[in-house]
Amino acid sequence: MKFELKKVHRNTPESEFIADLKNTAIKLNQDFVTHQQQNEFGKFDASNMADRFGGWAKAHDRAGLNFARHQKSVRVSDDELFQNMEEVWTKLGHQPIQADMFPPLSKYSAGAYKKHFGTWMKGLEIFVTNINSEEDASSESSIENLKVEPATKHKTKREINWRLRFIIMKRDNFKCKDCGRSPATDQSIILHVDHKKAWAKGGETVLENLETLCSKCNIGKSDLE
Ligand SMILES: [Zn+2]
Repeated sequence: MKFELKKVHRNTPESEFIADLKNTAIKLNQDFVTHQQQNEFGKFDASNMADRFGGWAKAHDRAGLNFARHQKSVRVSDDELFQNMEEVWTKLGHQPIQADMFPPLSKYSAGAYKKHFGTWMKGLEIFVTNINSEEDASSESSIENLKVEPATKHKTKREINWRLRFIIMKRDNFKCKDCGRSPATDQSIILHVDHKKAWAKGGETVLENLETLCSKCNIGKSDLE
């Protein structure tokens, strides 16, 4: 890669910076410009501009653009962090520690959880609370309270959402119910949650009708059906 000195625009008037930022936004048809986009499509260097205005968002304010909205839209949601936590937890077969939160196992770092929830532990606590709220809604007893529908119709959806999947795996100690293998002791093991009585045969998506199987046993099972 060619070595290049960073362009310094010490003598460029602020109005030129602002005009250039606006111009870049117009080119992109956006009401914000990222650093990368400015450096690719703009005339002036983004860091230089940010320095001059006391921050990139402030440069946007001056140009009548809105960087805050963009930042908000890219901010990762609670649900994304929870789903990632669920994936890491079930792949490990036990509660993750901060050192587990690296790719390819984890999409988000422990730092992302700290930033979002305050502390790592707080993130875990809120995750578990979130999971527990699903448990009450997914037992047969609560299903019975629902309006009775014709016998041919299901009371539940076929899809096993990630919260329910986690509850079942945790209940089954992250072990295959058939062969007992677990990702905690064998990294090649991939666990699935499956309907005991097939959904197609009238089985419901409830705690009582779901079980944890490894991919091998799961395939064996569907062959028999
Ligand atoms: Zn198995």
